Amino acid sequence: MRRISILGATGSVGTSTLDLVERHPDRFEVVALTAATNAIALADAARRTGAKLAVIVDETKLPELRDALAGTDCRAATGHDALLEAAAGDAEWVMAAIVGCAGLEPVMAAVEAGRTIALANKEALVTAGSLMIDAAKRTGATVLPVDSEHNAIFQCLAGNSHDGVAKLILTASGGPFRTWSKADMDVARPEQALKHPNWSMGAKISIDSATMMNKGLELIEAHHLFGLPSDRIDILVHPQSVIHSMVEYVDGSTIAQLGSPDMRIPIAHCLAWPERIETRAETLDLIKIANLSFEAPDEVRFPSLRLARAALESGKGEAIVLNAANEIAVAAFLDRKIAFGDIARIVEQAINQAESPAPQSIADVIAIDQAVRRQVGLVMPMVSA
Ligand code: NAD
Ligand code: MG
Repeated sequence: MRRISILGATGSVGTSTLDLVERHPDRFEVVALTAATNAIALADAARRTGAKLAVIVDETKLPELRDALAGTDCRAATGHDALLEAAAGDAEWVMAAIVGCAGLEPVMAAVEAGRTIALANKEALVTAGSLMIDAAKRTGATVLPVDSEHNAIFQCLAGNSHDGVAKLILTASGGPFRTWSKADMDVARPEQALKHPNWSMGAKISIDSATMMNKGLELIEAHHLFGLPSDRIDILVHPQSVIHSMVEYVDGSTIAQLGSPDMRIPIAHCLAWPERIETRAETLDLIKIANLSFEAPDEVRFPSLRLARAALESGKGEAIVLNAANEIAVAAFLDRKIAFGDIARIVEQAINQAESPAPQSIADVIAIDQAVRRQVGLVMPMVSA
């Protein structure tokens, strides 16, 4: 029995994780679950899995959570400490599926406690990558990549000498605006940007896929997870999302991982690692798919790619600024306060204005993140006007 916690249990990755855990009750025991606001969905998941701790971030929802858990032996809790307890308490395996930099401290609590962390929360790695990887080395924590591209690379590296790696090739679907003109994209509406051609995901990452900032964040994520410099990580647009990423070796071999676009596949790989479990995800029908195609990424229509690569190469805290400005801009776009084209402009402006020394601690990361949020919040109305 593997004792597990799911942070962000009510989200897209969280519910896919629950789906797998509930299919394999003989293998997994759920210790703790967390959510931001949805007390009913959280309590329902806690009842189904027999979780012992349910943490709701929105404290006004605690009474509702308590009522919904009445008659169970699951403790309802709220607050920062309770969230850290869910991350670093009794569970040996932790799914980190909170969205945004808000997930950083719980992830670090699990790393400090030496747990196995299935990391979906890419923003935590983008903002604090070196600190997190160094801490994991010190504590013996294991970080398993859930993001489908990084999970693919992890699988392509297995059993091979890392010295023989020439480069990593991150594939990208290109998102819903892959073939759109820059002028059309500039005025795209949230409902258009949310329509991902292949994957069903939470709102924030769906918008990141439309701007291709998602691939920019994944470039930084790949750098921290696999230790390769920016010039040895390529981005390749592959609209069918069948090949989830590849590793090219010095001898000319390229190894790819393929699968249907279903997050249960990489999540299951992390859940059972180093074993394999059945997922009921659709298997690939390559005859039906027939064609796999590839294109170069377009950094003119998708400036977020260029901004993310530059942030990584700066070696300072620029990735924290990039991430914070992007989180704020995406939320403002979803609230219809700014245009789609403003998102990358706001991120670029924030990078040009912010002080971003390399962070020495998680407290430094949070301080830079908070300063950028305040600053971007102030300039936002002028940009969208
Ligand atoms: P989502 O919006 O569907 O779910 C987010 C979860 O985090 C929810 O349970 C929510 O209650 C919780 N949450 C939100 N804000 C919070 C806060 N401030 N504090 C604590 N909890 C909070 O998001 P998602 O699509 O499941 O993505 C989760 C993470 O996984 C993101 O970092 C995303 O980039 C990454 N990821 C997602 C997918 C996918 O297919 N959805 C694929 C790869 C990586
Ligand atoms: Mg991904």
